[in-house]
Amino acid sequence: MPIGRPRSVVAALPAYRPGKDAAQAEAEHGITDAIKLASNENPLPPLPSVLAAINDAATGLNRYADHRATAVRRRLGDWLGVETQRVAVGCGSVGLLQQLALAYVDPGDEVVYPWRSFEVYPVYTQLAGGVAVTVPLVDGAFDLDAVAAAITNKTKLVFLATPNNPTGRAVSTAELADLLARVPEDVIVVVDEAYREFLDPAFGDPVHDLVPRFPHVVVTRTFSKAHGLAGLRIGYAVGHPEVISTIDKTLFPFAVNALAQAAALAVIEADAEIAARVADILAERARVITELRELGWRVPDQQANFVWFPLGADTDDVYLALEKRGVVTRPFSGEGIRVTIGTSAENDRFLATLTEVRSPTG
Ligand SMILES: *Cc1c(COP(=O)(O)O)cnc(C)c1O
Repeated sequence: MPIGRPRSVVAALPAYRPGKDAAQAEAEHGITDAIKLASNENPLPPLPSVLAAINDAATGLNRYADHRATAVRRRLGDWLGVETQRVAVGCGSVGLLQQLALAYVDPGDEVVYPWRSFEVYPVYTQLAGGVAVTVPLVDGAFDLDAVAAAITNKTKLVFLATPNNPTGRAVSTAELADLLARVPEDVIVVVDEAYREFLDPAFGDPVHDLVPRFPHVVVTRTFSKAHGLAGLRIGYAVGHPEVISTIDKTLFPFAVNALAQAAALAVIEADAEIAARVADILAERARVITELRELGWRVPDQQANFVWFPLGADTDDVYLALEKRGVVTRPFSGEGIRVTIGTSAENDRFLATLTEVRSPTG
């Protein structure tokens, strides 16, 4: 007899596989000094001012946190120049993406997204009993005409990660506006901007360019990547007040913990220091791409804090060869590897190790 009877959609789900950490790789291969370039994290620890705020907040941990994260919503509203009712705060932006699926997708409803993209989209679609409608990438980039064409009267949600994880390509707000004008207002279009801070500003700002014009767009962002708070789990969404109050109904009680709320407030105050750290990562990204191109690799435009290598059938071999030498990247079997921009020393190590294990592909 089975132990319990999981829902068929849950039984069919693969287990989530997070990026391997350095210690796991060391144990597995009997090596030391492994580096993790697998999860697009910030390579630096949180700023001292943020650590101090976390420390202060820790003295109140006997109490539940503010469920709605009211202070964070208010501060985000001011910071972004939007009304507080247009802001939701969630347990990481993946928490908000799950809330969106819970709020809008009934069994049999369709969810449209380009693919390959962020791995949680199929999982949340399936958990809600929805039907995934995927739109193939064109050379790693989105085909928004094909996205528009994929929308039917069963579509409830569209997920667009820009810059896209794992291919690093982005779409402009002008292109998104064209799409939104063609999508009926009873379909929610989620613009997942987890990597916004690394994006060339010429692509536009969806919070300013799209949210005031289109009631059916929701922009999600996070403090996990550029702001270096991945371990705390806090992200936010900006959209129409009606959409925000709908997704708020699906917020797990006290999902945004007190330390995360305090850290978010502190890191917003440290805006200039974060911008300086982002500038360093962007300079490293440019250097890594230049060196890869000099080595003979064909690297298309990359707008996030990682570089995508479409290695096709060679993916697993290259990934394993790198990992055995202590460089942990993120493989997508049969498609490619994604390599996070780390510190300058880590990036040097990656470039040297890649050159050792693999000659360039054009
Ligand atoms: C990393 C990532 C996120 C989210 O992260 P949280 O840590 O949950 O905020 C969201 N979307 C994409 C595309 C990502 O790569």
